[in-house]
Amino acid sequence: MLKIAIQAKGRLNEQSVSLLADSGIQCGGGSRRLLSMATGFDMEILYLRDDDIPQAVAMGVADIGIVGLNEVAEKGERVDEVMALGFGACRISVAVPRESGYDGPAWLNGRRIATSYPNILRTWLDSKGIDAEIHEIAGSVEIAPAVGMADAIFDIVSSGGTLVQNGLREVERVFDSEAVLIATPQLPDGKREAVEKLRFRFSTILAGRGMKYLLMNLPEGSVERAVEILPGMKSPTVLPLAAEGWFSLHAVVPESELWDKVEMLKEIGAEDILVLNLENIIR
Ligand code: ATP
Ligand code: MG
Repeated sequence: MLKIAIQAKGRLNEQSVSLLADSGIQCGGGSRRLLSMATGFDMEILYLRDDDIPQAVAMGVADIGIVGLNEVAEKGERVDEVMALGFGACRISVAVPRESGYDGPAWLNGRRIATSYPNILRTWLDSKGIDAEIHEIAGSVEIAPAVGMADAIFDIVSSGGTLVQNGLREVERVFDSEAVLIATPQLPDGKREAVEKLRFRFSTILAGRGMKYLLMNLPEGSVERAVEILPGMKSPTVLPLAAEGWFSLHAVVPESELWDKVEMLKEIGAEDILVLNLENIIR
């Protein structure tokens, strides 16, 4: 039976559980347990700290796992990256006190940098030929400069709000991350099929996220223009209505373009526009 490791609690837990749920897989058991049986898919769920997921998957304790790419890169364990999952976006950046006079990576020479990501930092420093002192600390990295523990930090940033609160300025964006599905390199054949099934379900869910289904009525003279506005997946569906000279047009549009498209369609005479949530796109 397939075993998947997900974060027990923290930033990736909820979205990992809901990606599984949208794929028809209920975790059950709650996150207080270490292991639970899924329903809807022949699978066990192992709840771990995110730091431990790359190793658990590399060792085959879990066949697959959902974890941030940052942890995968930092731990350097041998795992296969199956797919990016479109959530948990963040970056790891160098930040310095606002008034530090930072003028480029060479400024870091001989300085102390606090981080929870020493390996990613070391690789980056080496690539720039910089010799800095790395101070590994487990948490609250952002306060290290203020308490005199470091001259700079190398830490996760998402909105940048935490940096500002601590009087820091992001100066080098080094590593971009999001949650990924990883797999143990020597998956037995039986399990490979199950992982493929899961990958298919996940990509179907991800393709549908952020998309809307649009339906509207159009006078005949506007159909051609509407098709230009709404390219659709192949092209939009155009169906004649029972009322002479009118057509119904259906198309899938990215949510980010929804209102622009709707306004353009109204201008060319579209009526009765319905916007529906799209659950899955199965290709
Ligand atoms: P654990 O107890 O599992 O070790 P943690 O405290 O190390 O948890 P979280 O803070 O829950 O980790 O973050 C988990 C992952 O979420 C990070 O490794 C990263 O991939 C992603 N992430 C996205 N945005 C942020 C953010 N603003 N701060 C920290 N992590 C983020
Ligand atoms: Mg952790």
